[in-house]
Amino acid sequence: MRAYLPDYSFHRAKTLTEAFSQLEAGAKPFAGGTDIMVLLDAGALPPDNYFDILAIKELQGIRSTKKALSLGALTTYSEIRNHKLIQSNFPILCASAREVGAIAIQNRGTIGGNIANSSPAADLPPGLLVYEAQINLISKRGLRTLDYTKFHLGYKKNELQKDELIHSITLKPEFQKHHHFWRKVGSRRSQAISKTMIAALAKVNRKRIEDIRIALGSVAPTAVRCLEVETFLKGKILSPSTILEAKKILSRDLHPIDDIRSTGKYRLIVSQNMLEEFLCGIG
Ligand SMILES: Cc1cc2nc3c(=O)[nH]c(=O)nc-3n(C[C@H](O)[C@H](O)[C@H](O)COP(=O)(O)OP(=O)(O)OC[C@H]3O[C@@H](n4cnc5c(N)ncnc54)[C@H](O)[C@@H]3O)c2cc1C
Repeated sequence: MRAYLPDYSFHRAKTLTEAFSQLEAGAKPFAGGTDIMVLLDAGALPPDNYFDILAIKELQGIRSTKKALSLGALTTYSEIRNHKLIQSNFPILCASAREVGAIAIQNRGTIGGNIANSSPAADLPPGLLVYEAQINLISKRGLRTLDYTKFHLGYKKNELQKDELIHSITLKPEFQKHHHFWRKVGSRRSQAISKTMIAALAKVNRKRIEDIRIALGSVAPTAVRCLEVETFLKGKILSPSTILEAKKILSRDLHPIDDIRSTGKYRLIVSQNMLEEFLCGIG
């Protein structure tokens, strides 16, 4: 059943102060609306008060300094894919943004909405995990910064408090010498929610792995770093037996579920294959 529109109210907050008042009154932020409108259309959005945050300057834009890059919560996928510094320093984010929905969604959907929605199948979190991003949350009480690894607490659960907005994401450009790898497996190349996906980074010196970070999405209640596999691979010279062992460790680490998009068995096998594809490419 479709939603009955008079059950909802909608305001525009032009400043952070107006947004904080809206939050205090119990209203919910509305950015690109690409997640919220799907629920509305399906009659699954509880009647509530919403406020548009798109005009709030502090949440907009990509800013760079020598030490870091800051992506405002309202940064769209199209802005991410077209940004030269993100292309050169954080190519996994460009590659994942390029595979979100299709162009219309990429022009409208925001990084803040993707993170706040906290779906395990969201495309940006695995990349943010391997780049060890920080997330900045803002409220009347001020700005607080968390390691992104600490933000997602479970399926659709996160650290965001009722009076907070996602302000921005901070990334440090420390990965110029790394291999960057991204792979999303869904039913189609576009307009597909993933069955599994991998974001991975590695720095290799004379065939020895000096640094490695691997994250998967759609295989657990949140995107996950594969720390046991990383620990096993660090310092190793890659060989067919090392890759085989890494795949075995991954299968001990992961317990993906069956759902409407795929089976746990398929997700596990394909995740192992993606890990192998990545490792074969860096050796
Ligand atoms: C056809 C279609 C295809 C899609 N394909 C993909 C896909 O392939 N991969 C993928 O990952 N996603 C996909 N999505 C989901 C969606 O586009 C993304 O999750 C998007 O990034 C959400 O951002 P938004 O600005 O539209 O969020 P909104 O819908 O405005 O908000 C989503 C949630 O985040 C909250 N929120 C938004 N901004 C903030 C903020 N700054 N602070 C606090 N809370 C906030 C809202 O209150 C709401 O709960 C698809 C959606 C559609 C409709």
